[in-house]
Amino acid sequence: MTYRPPIEDIVHSLNTAAGLPDLIARGVLEGVDQALLASVLEEAGRFAAEAIAPLNRVGDLAHSQLIDGRVRVPDGWTETYHRWREAGWNALSGPSEFGGQGLPQTIGMAVSELWSSACLSFGLGPTLTFGAVDALHMVANDELKRTYLPKMVSGQWMGTMNLTEPHAGTDLGALKTRAVPQADGSYRITGTKIFISYGDHEMTENIIHLVLARLPNAPAGTRGISLFLVPKYLLNPDGSIGRRNDLRCARLENKLGIHASPTCEMRYGENEGAIGWLVGEENRGLNHMFIMMNRARLGVGIQGVAIAERATQQALAYASERKQGRTAGMSADAMVPIAEHPDVRRNLLMMRALTMAARAICYATARELDLSERASDRNERARAASRVALLTPVAKAFATDIGVEVASTGLQVHGGMGFIEDAGAAQHYRDARILPIYEGTNGVQAIDLVTRKLPLEGGKAIEGYIGELQATALAVRSSTQPLLAGIAPLLEGANAALERATRFLGRALQSGETDVALAGATPYLRLFGLVAGATYLARGAAAEVEASTHRAGHHVQLACVFARQMLPAADGLATTVVEGAQSVLAADPSLTRA
Ligand SMILES: Cc1cc2nc3c(=O)[nH]c(=O)nc-3n(C[C@H](O)[C@H](O)[C@H](O)COP(=O)(O)OP(=O)(O)OC[C@H]3O[C@@H](n4cnc5c(N)ncnc54)[C@H](O)[C@@H]3O)c2cc1C
Repeated sequence: MTYRPPIEDIVHSLNTAAGLPDLIARGVLEGVDQALLASVLEEAGRFAAEAIAPLNRVGDLAHSQLIDGRVRVPDGWTETYHRWREAGWNALSGPSEFGGQGLPQTIGMAVSELWSSACLSFGLGPTLTFGAVDALHMVANDELKRTYLPKMVSGQWMGTMNLTEPHAGTDLGALKTRAVPQADGSYRITGTKIFISYGDHEMTENIIHLVLARLPNAPAGTRGISLFLVPKYLLNPDGSIGRRNDLRCARLENKLGIHASPTCEMRYGENEGAIGWLVGEENRGLNHMFIMMNRARLGVGIQGVAIAERATQQALAYASERKQGRTAGMSADAMVPIAEHPDVRRNLLMMRALTMAARAICYATARELDLSERASDRNERARAASRVALLTPVAKAFATDIGVEVASTGLQVHGGMGFIEDAGAAQHYRDARILPIYEGTNGVQAIDLVTRKLPLEGGKAIEGYIGELQATALAVRSSTQPLLAGIAPLLEGANAALERATRFLGRALQSGETDVALAGATPYLRLFGLVAGATYLARGAAAEVEASTHRAGHHVQLACVFARQMLPAADGLATTVVEGAQSVLAADPSLTRA
C-alpha cells in the first residue's frame, strides 16, 4: 500500500497546536514563513513517499544481517540514505555553525514524522544521529565539536546512543562499562552494550558512538557515570579516516519488528581498549545524556504518530475496498464496503482522531522546545523549558501507546487479512510495539511525569497548564458552531478530572505515600494525554470554524468524535488514580511472583 504524506493535517497541527503563525509573527523562528514550511513539507513528503516508503516491506523481509563480522543492511538502504542526506535532510535542523540549516524543532519534528511513516526502521537511524548532535553541541569541548559535528550534521557519519547493558536497562546506575584515562587525554573503554540501534553498518564511512561508562573510583550509581565519544574508525591527524577502533558488533538481535534496523550487541575494548574522549564533565554523563534523551523521547513520540498515520492510511484503503454484509434495505446479494458499518466507521474515525491528538501533543511540545531555545526573553525561555519538561513524558508515552493502539485497530479493520503478513497491517503492529519500550519505557515516563514533573516550580507548571486547558474549554463553550460548543461540558468535566487526580498525586507525594503515586502514574499519564489531546483538537476545530464561516468541517467532526468517544473515560481514569492504588499495593505479593 502506498504512503500519502498527510501534509494538510501536519500543517493544520503545526498552525493550531504548535501555534506556528504566532511564533512566525513574533520573529521567534527567524527566516521561517508559511511558504518555506509548505515547500519543505512538500519536498520531504515526495522523498518519503517515492524513495523511502518502498524500502519498508523490503527491509521487513530482508532484515539487517551480520555476515562474517560485517553488518549488512537490506538492498537499497545505503543508496537511499546517501540520496537523502545529499539532499540536505539530515542537516535540516542541525546547528548552522556546523553546516546545519538551523530550522526549528517544530519543522524538524514534522519532517521526521514523514521519514518514520514511510519506514520506521529507516527513520530511526537519523533520530539517533540528531540526538547525538544535540548532546555534543551542548556539552562537548570545542575540539570535539570541530572534529565530529560537521560530518554528523551533514549525515556523512551517523551517531548512536550506548546506554543499555545486560544487567543495566532502566536502572542505568548499575552499568559497568569502564573508562580508564590515558596520559594523552584520551580514555580506554571496555565493556558490553546491548540493544544498540544502528550500532554497526556500512551505510556511512564512520559511526560516532556516545557511550556511558564509569571512571576508576567513580561514585556508585548514577552519580558515577560519564559520557564518552567513541568513533568506529579513529581519525588521522588530517581528519581523514584512520585505523579501526577496538569495538565490534558481536551479534544482531532477532526482533518482533523494525527488522531492518540493526540492533547490535556492541563489544568495546576486547583487545587494547577502545579509544574515546570525555564529553562534558566527569560523572555528569547521565545529565548530559539526558539532553539527548529528551530530544530522542520527543522523536520517539513522533515515531508513534508516524506509525499511527501509516496504519490509518492502510486501514482506510482496505475498508473502502473490502466488501462484506449489507446495510438496512439492501438486496440480499449486494454487499457494501466495510467502511459503511457503524462499528468499522467508529474504528476508522478513532484511528484518525487518536493520530491527530498524538500529533498535536508532540508538535505542541516541539513548539515549547523552540521557545526554550529561541525566545528573546529569558523568562519566556525558562517557562518554555519547564513546559518541555512537563510535556515530554506525555508526548513520548501517550503518542507511542496510540501508535500501538491504532496499529492494532488497523489490523482489526482488516479482519483475518490483518493477521496475514502479505496485507502489511501486521508489520505496522509489529514495528509499533518497540515504541513504548525504548527510550525509557512508558511506565518510566509515567513515573517521571508524576514524581519529577508535577512538582516542577512547586506545582505551578502543571497548574498553569491545566489553566490553559480550562481556558480552551471556556472558549469552546461560546463557539457559534453548535457541534463544537456541544463538547464544552465534556472538556470541562475532563479538566476537572485531571485537576482532581493531580491534586491527589500532589498530596500523596507530599505526605510520603510515594508508592500510592507510583501505582497511579500510568492511568494518570493516559488521563493527561486524553485531556491535552482533546483540547488541542478542539483548538484546531475552532480555527477551522473561524476560517470556514462556521461550517462543521473535518476538524470539528474529528474533535467531536474524540471528545465524545474518549473523554467520558477521564473521570474513570481519575478515580483509578485516586482509588485504585490500594488494590495494587495491598495485593498479596505471591500473586505477582512466579
Ligand atoms: C529494538 C531495541 C532498540 C533499542 N535501542 C537502544 C539504543 O539504541 N541504545 C540503548 O542504549 N538502548 C536501546 N534499547 C534498550 C531499551 O532502551 C531498553 O530495553 C529499555 O530502556 C528497557 O530496559 P530493559 O530492557 O533492561 O528492561 P527492564 O529495565 O528490565 O524493565 C522491565 C520492565 O520493568 C519495568 N521497570 C524497570 N524498572 C522499574 C522501576 N524502577 N519502576 C517501575 N518499573 C520499572 C519497566 O518499565 C519494564 O516494563 C533498545 C531496545 C530494543 C528492544
